[in-house]
Amino acid sequence: VNMTSQVTTQRNTGVPGVKNIIAVASGKGGVGKSTVSVNLALALSKTGAKVGLIDADIYGPSIPIMFGLEGVRPKATQDNGKTRIEPIEKYGIKLLSIGFFTDPNQPVPWRGPMVSTAVKQLFNDADWGELDYLVIDLPPGTGDIHITVTQSFPVTGAVIVTTPQNVALADAKKGIGMFMMPAINVPIMGVVENMAYFTPEELPNNKYYIFGQGGGKKLAQQLDVPFLGEIPLIKGISESGDAGRPIVLDDDGIMTTAFMEMARRVAQQV
Ligand code: ADP
Ligand code: MG
Repeated sequence: VNMTSQVTTQRNTGVPGVKNIIAVASGKGGVGKSTVSVNLALALSKTGAKVGLIDADIYGPSIPIMFGLEGVRPKATQDNGKTRIEPIEKYGIKLLSIGFFTDPNQPVPWRGPMVSTAVKQLFNDADWGELDYLVIDLPPGTGDIHITVTQSFPVTGAVIVTTPQNVALADAKKGIGMFMMPAINVPIMGVVENMAYFTPEELPNNKYYIFGQGGGKKLAQQLDVPFLGEIPLIKGISESGDAGRPIVLDDDGIMTTAFMEMARRVAQQV
């Protein structure tokens, strides 16, 4: 299928009050897209910016769990026949997840057009107020939701998450290629290499490159896009994600340094 035939270059439905939309994407699932979205959003917020977060991963929404908001339903009101959704506010971030509107125990067998409508509502029908950044956690791959979001909203830039393995790098390359297509044309803000190396808690200065070294940086160089940094494989990341309190809120070491640096490099590009 020639994707260019399915998309147009028109892109004008901005979200009022929102200055920048940052899309977090990856080719493969499970590489840490949600982890990066959440901690990048919190790092941007730590710099004093007003930040919102949309979890647009229809097939595996993780933001409700990562923010300790399972079972929460945002308030929705009718105003002159138009629905207004109030984003949930936690840790200083305004957020909405497709997961707030679906049954967490049921699969979501939606077809493309339904998914597109639902995702657009998260942008258009919510009271985001004034935001410096609206971070979007996209599903893996290069599908319907990517096309909907990039065609409907002026995305400022994309952050691409990969892990060091060749299978992930190959998919990240495809993801970058999609954003670079003339019909999509979203600037690549950079590549993040997650799970770049393992550091045991008892040996904080040791780095073990168990999946290979330097792949993310090399990919960035090859495609002439910025490299945003390495995030180590650390037990605390998955523990904090499961506990509903992202690591950047509490850690004052290597993780926060990495995410603050990532936030700085993103902010430089808006
Ligand atoms: P994705 O959104 O790409 O599917 P997630 O952010 O949900 O990926 O990460 C997948 C799993 O790996 C989660 O359980 C998460 O806590 C864990 N994880 C992600 N990054 C790291 C890391 N750097 N160190 C340890 N665990 C991680
Ligand atoms: Mg995810």
